[in-house]
Amino acid sequence: MTGNACVVGSGPNGLTAAIVLAKAGLRTTVYEEQPTIGGGARSAELTLPGFVHDVCSAVHPWAASSPAFATFPLAEHGLEWIQPPLPLAHPLDDGSAAVLAMPIEDTCARLGPDGAVYRRAIGPLARRWRELLPIIQQPLLRFPAHPWLLARFGALAFWPAAASARLLFRTEAARALFAGIAAHSVLPLEALGSAAFGWVLAIAGHAVGWPIPRGGSQSIANALASYFESLGGSIVTNHRIGSLDELGDAAPVLCDLTPRQFVAVAGSRLPARYRRQLEAYRYGPGVFKIDWALSAPIPWTAAECGRAGTIHVGGSLDEIAASERASAGTAASERPFVLVAQPSLFDASRAPAGKHTAWGYCHVPHASTEDMTERIESQVERFAPGFRARILARHTATPADLERHNANLVGGDITGGAQDLKQLVLRPTRLFYRTPLAGVYLCSSSTPPGGAVHGMCGFHAAETALRGIRNGLLTIATIALMAALLCAPGSAQQDPAQATKPPSTTEKWHFFIEETATPFTLVASGVNAAVSEATRSDPQYGVGGVALTKRFGAAVGDNITQNFFSDFVLASALHEDTRYIRKGPSHGFWSRFSYAVSRAFVTRTDAGERTTNWANLLGCGLQAGLSNAYYPPPSQTGRATAINWANSVAGSGFGNLFPEFLPDFKKWLKKHHL
Ligand SMILES: Cc1cc2nc3c(=O)[nH]c(=O)nc-3n(C[C@H](O)[C@H](O)[C@H](O)COP(=O)(O)OP(=O)(O)OC[C@H]3O[C@@H](n4cnc5c(N)ncnc54)[C@H](O)[C@@H]3O)c2cc1C
Repeated sequence: MTGNACVVGSGPNGLTAAIVLAKAGLRTTVYEEQPTIGGGARSAELTLPGFVHDVCSAVHPWAASSPAFATFPLAEHGLEWIQPPLPLAHPLDDGSAAVLAMPIEDTCARLGPDGAVYRRAIGPLARRWRELLPIIQQPLLRFPAHPWLLARFGALAFWPAAASARLLFRTEAARALFAGIAAHSVLPLEALGSAAFGWVLAIAGHAVGWPIPRGGSQSIANALASYFESLGGSIVTNHRIGSLDELGDAAPVLCDLTPRQFVAVAGSRLPARYRRQLEAYRYGPGVFKIDWALSAPIPWTAAECGRAGTIHVGGSLDEIAASERASAGTAASERPFVLVAQPSLFDASRAPAGKHTAWGYCHVPHASTEDMTERIESQVERFAPGFRARILARHTATPADLERHNANLVGGDITGGAQDLKQLVLRPTRLFYRTPLAGVYLCSSSTPPGGAVHGMCGFHAAETALRGIRNGLLTIATIALMAALLCAPGSAQQDPAQATKPPSTTEKWHFFIEETATPFTLVASGVNAAVSEATRSDPQYGVGGVALTKRFGAAVGDNITQNFFSDFVLASALHEDTRYIRKGPSHGFWSRFSYAVSRAFVTRTDAGERTTNWANLLGCGLQAGLSNAYYPPPSQTGRATAINWANSVAGSGFGNLFPEFLPDFKKWLKKHHL
């Protein structure tokens, strides 16, 4: 492996970016400020020994759907998903509960008169979740693979959640259920686009559920880290990066940071305009979070709540909307909307036998210092009388506490910046993952597609960085090709008069040397290596300086062996004259073109008669066979050898275009004084 890439921050996006870079062959190091890895996917004994709490994320429809995670063998690295019988329950004051069940039909059946509308709205989208997902998990300005599917989703998603719920649903239960899901947007439910979060999370619930990882969210980070290390990557914890200067000449550098911290680490390197854009980036409300150690499960009045991984505690649509409006303002709601997860009901590893954990938070104004403990617990008690009596211990976290635990949680904002329409489309700027600094990229949830544990920000950022490397190599290859055109001596071009004399074996040896030991061979091999690296053929070589050198060595080896067999050994044994006889400008372009390419298959005998170019065809075959001695193992199959053979024959044909046309080109340059 080669190259020297760095990732700042070990959140799910940082680790995903690191994996993509390591898979491409870059020697990659992740630096993490905290003593433990994982950012928003960490677990710890926050209350009492033996009680494992998720410090940030707990429930993972996005991780279970993630196209990036799907390409990693995370199960082999210890990640196991648990599906609670119900993804979500939403208790109501009359003792009943609305539910989101995985089979959409079950949800519809429970929604009574609103079931049909619900089915019509998202049934077709849920069926096409795997096609919809990549479209909404990329920058929204990119042309989508399925424009009509996106248009259909957009027609539902664009509206304010509160208005959508009131317009579409007649029952309080359906309205409340939708409002609670849409409140994951951390936007007022009157904001344009807030409905998108409600629909997309509901669809995910039907498609993949809202699962929890066995052992806690830390298992996600640990699986990503373990896979990354198996690829040769390394992670340094307790290491805060205060300035990009500390990373020396590492490239690419991917920053799992939000704009505010990025401005701090990039310092004066950033152009003023881009810096101003980042400084204008807006952060959203914060959260106040409580983790409970419990003597028994939460005693919900509605039985369905005991079967769900997530409970939305907040009552009606109007109450939830009021709570979210308050958190977008200056004072938190007296009756906050609370998101509760109860993982120990479905995962015994989270608490000592018979005991339980629960996780809950509500949205509060940005950087709020209000203590929400009493208000949150009152809300839970409202739907689960006797809850307080079961609390053995609690751990609370204000926005400031969360930010101390993870610098990305600016003012307690858990989504890496407000997710309003503008910042969903231009996140954090129109450059998305790129920055004006060469080789430096952003990969946190402040880039598309935004907050949650899915790694897609890191995935797209790393792909962007690798594209940058590939484009750089293609530019080098183009420049080298131009240089070759201008500097090449004309390869094996022969004077037709001289070529009429049958060549001796010694002359064939000289011809082989002349054909091989030219700067043109080196330049052509360099171009070959750069193109091979840019297109990632033979990916086992990786990318970077050493990989490029290996590819270059293999290309030179191919050149030497092919010329040796074709122009000397076989040409002598078969009495063939493989020198290229130029047709010249007295003929038309296509006649010259086809003649040059056909010389790979047709040549002359020493006596000057037309014959099949066995020396070239067999020489290319011998070269392809011999290349198995130095190509990486996956390229040593019969099929790979045959492709190599065909490529060599094609290369020898198209290579004849140089001796055919180069003299014309040089003449043209001279004529125009270039
Ligand atoms: C309370 C809470 C509940 C949540 N619930 C859910 C949920 O249920 N489901 C879900 O999908 N998502 C949830 N999220 C959101 C999710 O955790 C984040 O969206 C996700 O973790 C973002 O990943 P990231 O890689 O962009 O950044 P982060 O996970 O925030 O990671 C950034 C990392 O960078 C490190 N870092 C920062 N500055 C530096 C520096 N200068 N040098 C070195 N390291 C640095 C930080 O310590 C951190 O480890 C929740 C978040 C919170 C806080």
